[in-house]
Amino acid sequence: MPLVWRYQSNLVDRDQNPKLILEHDLGEGWSAFLTEYTKGIIKSILDAEPRIEVGDSLVEIEFDQPLCDERNSSVTSESAPSLIAAMAPGLSPANELLHVPSLKSAQSAGVNALRPNRVGSGRMGDLSGYKGDALRILQGSGASVGDILEVQTKWGIVTGTLVPRYLYGDGEHLVLKLKSGYNIGLSLSGLKEARVKAKGEKPSFTAPPPPSAEKGLPRVLILGTGGTIASRIDYRTGAVHPAVSSAELHSLVPELSTVARVETEFMFDVFSENMTPKHWTRLAQRIRRAVYDGVDGVVITHGTDTLGYTAAALSFALIGVPVPVVLVGAQRSPDRPSSDGPLNMVAAVSAAGRAEFAGVYVAMHLGESDDEVAFHGGTRVRKNHTSRRDAFVSVGVPLAAVWGRAGIEYAAEGLPRRGGEFKPKTRFDDRVALVKFYPSMKASLVAAAQRGGMRGLVIEGTGLGHVSKEVAAEVQTFIKRGGLACMTSQCINGRVDMNVYDTGRDLLHAGVLPLEDMLAETALVKAMWALGNSKTVAGAKKFMVANLAGEMTTRTFPG
Ligand code: ASP
Repeated sequence: MPLVWRYQSNLVDRDQNPKLILEHDLGEGWSAFLTEYTKGIIKSILDAEPRIEVGDSLVEIEFDQPLCDERNSSVTSESAPSLIAAMAPGLSPANELLHVPSLKSAQSAGVNALRPNRVGSGRMGDLSGYKGDALRILQGSGASVGDILEVQTKWGIVTGTLVPRYLYGDGEHLVLKLKSGYNIGLSLSGLKEARVKAKGEKPSFTAPPPPSAEKGLPRVLILGTGGTIASRIDYRTGAVHPAVSSAELHSLVPELSTVARVETEFMFDVFSENMTPKHWTRLAQRIRRAVYDGVDGVVITHGTDTLGYTAAALSFALIGVPVPVVLVGAQRSPDRPSSDGPLNMVAAVSAAGRAEFAGVYVAMHLGESDDEVAFHGGTRVRKNHTSRRDAFVSVGVPLAAVWGRAGIEYAAEGLPRRGGEFKPKTRFDDRVALVKFYPSMKASLVAAAQRGGMRGLVIEGTGLGHVSKEVAAEVQTFIKRGGLACMTSQCINGRVDMNVYDTGRDLLHAGVLPLEDMLAETALVKAMWALGNSKTVAGAKKFMVANLAGEMTTRTFPG
């Protein structure tokens, strides 16, 4: 029996919570199945859990929040068609009809106790992410991810490919990818029997050969470090894979071959919270080698969460770098219609190859629309929003550059030019702590940093650069014992001035270095670099108070 959908309402109305009504003609008795089915699709496409009401002929889906990001409707207008296309391929947001022939008609199944059917050798296969009862049932059935399972449920028989689960998925559901391409989550409570119908191949991905680039294009090295931008969904199993080889990157963003001769290299595959100064050193050393080898520019694909830290680290390690070094990320994964990765990537590669300026930059969406990419100086950039595509901002300085589809549209005055002397210093000493002061903070935290072997302390003080008297006294001890202590402000904008109030003066007197308008994260990275490349703390102090890579300005830029 085919399932016939009819699309009825408009998801793009931003004044109300979006509602989607789909008509079906399965007749009575399908409500539990359709609820699970709809839930599975919406979870996999939008990662949302709306209210779903299934009647004899209607499925009503009401989202509890707009499907758009804040005030911008572009995500809604992208999400709606993709959701509808997933619910019912070929159905556009007009009232059209579609037949989805792949659902099996219901078959009455006896009410057996749950009895896994042993198929094959019973050897434990790859059951990534499954746990609890779901894992036990799958093991009992000899199933592996990628196998085609026939699952008897109280709503009928469902056949589909077993899909891996997310790490934090519960142990109460099996997830199958139906022949139609949709994922469905089947609750164990309605499951009577699961058997392997056919063994599947192990999930694999063979990228098409990279398109060949024209001769005469600039040479750009792309270094992969992981993060959302370098992920790829395997549409058969639903698993997320890193895409790190040149071929895979090209297959994701084939336009790259029209802007540069791209060479790609896998360096790490980490979520960016796992980056450390050791990774920064390896990156800086690899870039140094590439520069000596004559590349025209370098692009680093990176998770966005700590993109600013790595950008600052490379800005110091590669002072005077004679080519553009562009770090790029994506806020949305490539399987989402609103992914920002491809545009950011094309902008980064094209600027790395052709821009007249050199230095370290972060390239991310300028606004929520897909036309322009902002280039931020590597020491003044911050991720200021958890999810927006334009989450990155330049703090206290104008944007370094703006890229539009025709190339660089704007570049700030005074950016370093290509060429010149290059003497990289790639070491970092990770024995530096970043401490955010807060009312009631215990001085023992500073003492603990010292006992923990920290050589440097970057304080994010209040306002112009203050901490309580109790904490100030402990900072003084830290300095007396040979530590390097610096002050930044948790205000983010503006600069520290420790001459105005008593506490500030006391801290200055004790030897705390005021770091002007340097961002706290940049100051942390700089202190690690300064200690890593100086024989003495006095030498590191000299580095800290000098403006070496645009990290401090002499005048506060308004706004
Ligand atoms: N947590 C991820 C990371 O920073 C997020 C991203 O890639 O944007 O690696």
